[in-house]
Amino acid sequence: MSLQTLVRKAAKIIGDSNYVVVFTGAGISAEAGIPTFRGAQGLWTKYRPEELATPKAFKKNPKKVWEWYVWRLEIILRSKPTLAHRIIAELERRGIVKVIITQNVDELHQDAGSRRVIELHGSIRRARCTKCSYKTKLMEIPREIPPHCPKCGALLRPDVVWFGEEVPRVAFEESMREASICDSMIIIGTSGVVFPAAYIPIIAKSKGAILIEINPSRSALTSYVDIHIGTEASKALKAIYLELKSLGIINDRD
Ligand code: NAD
Ligand code: ZN
Repeated sequence: MSLQTLVRKAAKIIGDSNYVVVFTGAGISAEAGIPTFRGAQGLWTKYRPEELATPKAFKKNPKKVWEWYVWRLEIILRSKPTLAHRIIAELERRGIVKVIITQNVDELHQDAGSRRVIELHGSIRRARCTKCSYKTKLMEIPREIPPHCPKCGALLRPDVVWFGEEVPRVAFEESMREASICDSMIIIGTSGVVFPAAYIPIIAKSKGAILIEINPSRSALTSYVDIHIGTEASKALKAIYLELKSLGIINDRD
């Protein structure tokens, strides 16, 4: 099927839905210059994220783990939301998209203006104390690496969910609720191999939602989806947006 045919079908499904949920992964931020985990390039390719983003690695060598986060935070702090992030925010503003469930830790959905964002894996742009309830936003790179808590002196850690840790219960339960009530779900830029996040589209499907996937490659979720649009997030979303306009679902007077 041609890209245009797939886009037309996707736009029709979105237009016919009362409740659209967007589910995103690292691929949506790839165009912002933030490396994904699978296929990442550069300095840290000699380390596997599964070996650094763990409680065990942090316990053994907090400085090394923080250095990896500093490298990622530097990139994230100078990144801007992509056209894909901005189109999703615009679809939410127009009442078409109801919520964004993200595995990303970069807060680019919020930067783009999205209001209902469920963060399944936390944010690199925050740190929290390993002992007390202290939490802080990271507007810049901490001066001391590893940083310590100004309240109790214990180590601070990135406010993210590491491999082997539980995802925040409230965020996960809310995501499951959203997945079970949506009419359609747009899955963007995720390899679908990180659990329990990857259950969310599967639950949506089992409750009758139509799944649309945007990913230049096939993913572990592709066999579940109704439509796979095999191209980059911004290109696909721009085409869907234009199609929603030509179908009259979006008009400029809104
Ligand atoms: P992943 O790295 O496992 O997979 C990325 C997926 O994006 C791949 O399937 C790839 O084909 C696809 N992709 C690449 N470029 C794309 C584009 N332009 N448009 C659409 N899709 C594109 O990512 P994941 O599934 O999110 O899982 C990895 C974990 O890594 C997550 O838990 C997340 O917390 C973390 N992570 C987050 C960020 C971020 O916040 N930006 C970056 C790296 C990793
Ligand atoms: Zn503390």
